Amino acid sequence: MKQDSKLIRVDLDFKNAFNSAGHSSLRKILEGFGIPDVSLLSSIYERSTMRILVGNERSAAIQLDTGTVQGSALSSFLFDLFINALLRLLDSTGILHRVRGVPEWNLQAFADDLSLYVSSTEDANTLLNLVGSFQEWSGLKISIKKSLVTGALYGQGEIRRQRDAMAVIRKRKPPPEAQRLSRSKLQETQELEQMDPDFEEDLTPVDEEINEACEELRSRSLLQRCDTCGRHRDKHHFPSSATNQCTQCSKSWTPRGIAYQGETLKVIRGRTPTRLLGTHHNMWLDTKSQRRKVIDAAIEVAAYLYKNENLRIDQRLKVISMCLPSLFSFSAPLIDLPEADLKTLTAVWVRAYKNAWNSAKGTATCLFTYPREQGGLQVKLPLGTLFSSIWGNLERYSQFDDGTRQMLELTYHEALADNGCLNLLELQDAAQHLGWKRASTNEVTFACYLASKLEIRVEWDPFNPDLIVSAPHMTLATLAC
Ligand SMILES: [Zn+2]
Repeated sequence: MKQDSKLIRVDLDFKNAFNSAGHSSLRKILEGFGIPDVSLLSSIYERSTMRILVGNERSAAIQLDTGTVQGSALSSFLFDLFINALLRLLDSTGILHRVRGVPEWNLQAFADDLSLYVSSTEDANTLLNLVGSFQEWSGLKISIKKSLVTGALYGQGEIRRQRDAMAVIRKRKPPPEAQRLSRSKLQETQELEQMDPDFEEDLTPVDEEINEACEELRSRSLLQRCDTCGRHRDKHHFPSSATNQCTQCSKSWTPRGIAYQGETLKVIRGRTPTRLLGTHHNMWLDTKSQRRKVIDAAIEVAAYLYKNENLRIDQRLKVISMCLPSLFSFSAPLIDLPEADLKTLTAVWVRAYKNAWNSAKGTATCLFTYPREQGGLQVKLPLGTLFSSIWGNLERYSQFDDGTRQMLELTYHEALADNGCLNLLELQDAAQHLGWKRASTNEVTFACYLASKLEIRVEWDPFNPDLIVSAPHMTLATLAC
């Protein structure tokens, strides 16, 4: 990370992206890229009209001059070419994120999501002005309401701010006795909350008790939730009981003055988790909220199976196989997952399997977790899912020459160097002696650690200099001529 500088991210939301590409600008872009037979494509688009059925009568033909044809295999490709013109325009500015130690760029784009990464407000506004001119020219519109700015200050500046915040927090800390009393109260209340109402004949008193307990928890508890970072913290972390932003959050730096076409964009504090390509995390890549979402969704599946007695066992197992792995594997390779969270998730999955098989809560867990040769059912569990999604993700990184391959190459060489290994097989041997926390600091080391944990050997050599993918583009171009 940078010594003492800012990283600003601007997430842009395209309004109805696939339907707003102007045909005349699309044609110019295709010609610019040197696509053959543009006239053929243009004739499909130029004569496209639609009619609306009103009662039994059809309206006059309405000329369509924006958007790509629905359901056509070409459409997504055309949109890619279209958006690439904008990406190249942004690239051509030479503005960069300036985070040290990683390849330089200023944007990330996936389908109709576009995020800009810059190191100053001026750079953000320069890029946004260009996006604005592209909008004027092409008709591709940005929704200002749904776009946002977030950012973080790294290095000495942020360390100073946090040191100041900690000094204020320490001063406000109450004497320890009072705290112990309230903690026991808190525990008592939590136990009440966890009581299973099914064991009671009359539900009302329990509900009342829980409500009362929750009220107590709200009014007297030590913990208060910070609206900005989402953390539950002791009261002395807040300037006053009326504010819902902790001192650390209020002292942290926030980007200001970033506007699109004269309108200031909404600012989200760097400590607040935001959704980027389907994963929730904050600017320090803290993914607690994403992990919570994955665990909560698994709990929901387990509860659904418990409540729905109408389903057959095979249907219940289908619910599990369709929901649980995909809920977890989507974000699993992208977030920092502590071992404790994997254990919690495993417990929830096992509970879901027990519910699917209609077995009691107390059924031996080993029935689900043991492999077949030891008498277990050998069902799919989070560890195996994590293993396949992480290796799958590494493979995808290695295939795309869009910055991700370069990032993987850095991570790969760092992993080998840190562990004194020459290749991935050696790294898998070395990784079995590491702990979860240590291994998870590097994606490649972590993948090898999981392989050794599952006793799987992975043979893979993505950066072998003799592979065609390792050859520079210029060499390939010369060879092709
Ligand atoms: Zn906070």
